[in-house]
Amino acid sequence: MESELRFCPHCGAGVTPDAIFCSHCGKPLEEPKLSTSIGKQILIYSVSLFLPPFGLAWTFKYFRQQNKTARTIGLVSLLLTIIGIIGTIWIMMGFINNVNSSLNSALGGSTNDSQLNQFLQNY
Ligand SMILES: [Zn+2]
Repeated sequence: MESELRFCPHCGAGVTPDAIFCSHCGKPLEEPKLSTSIGKQILIYSVSLFLPPFGLAWTFKYFRQQNKTARTIGLVSLLLTIIGIIGTIWIMMGFINNVNSSLNSALGGSTNDSQLNQFLQNY
């Protein structure tokens, strides 16, 4: 609890960690500093890459920061999100193609047609 306490830079009153405005003087507070630790970066990057749209919340949050490291994290996670989306589409396309070709071979494809032709010619 003690470490989470923040103070208003304008009047020095204690404010809650997630407060946007000071409850004492009403002035806007700085956004709480976002963690730029390696563990946090790995978490953000893997979510961006493997669960594409979900990384975007962090992407914009970090990108808005003044801190250069945080902005770099935002940029990298944006790139990884794009790569993740392309990768997901790629895998889906491959999967659909696979299903299509196995469906075609399961149904007999062109052999089915010639059997149908033979059937029609017999009548
Ligand atoms: Zn204040």
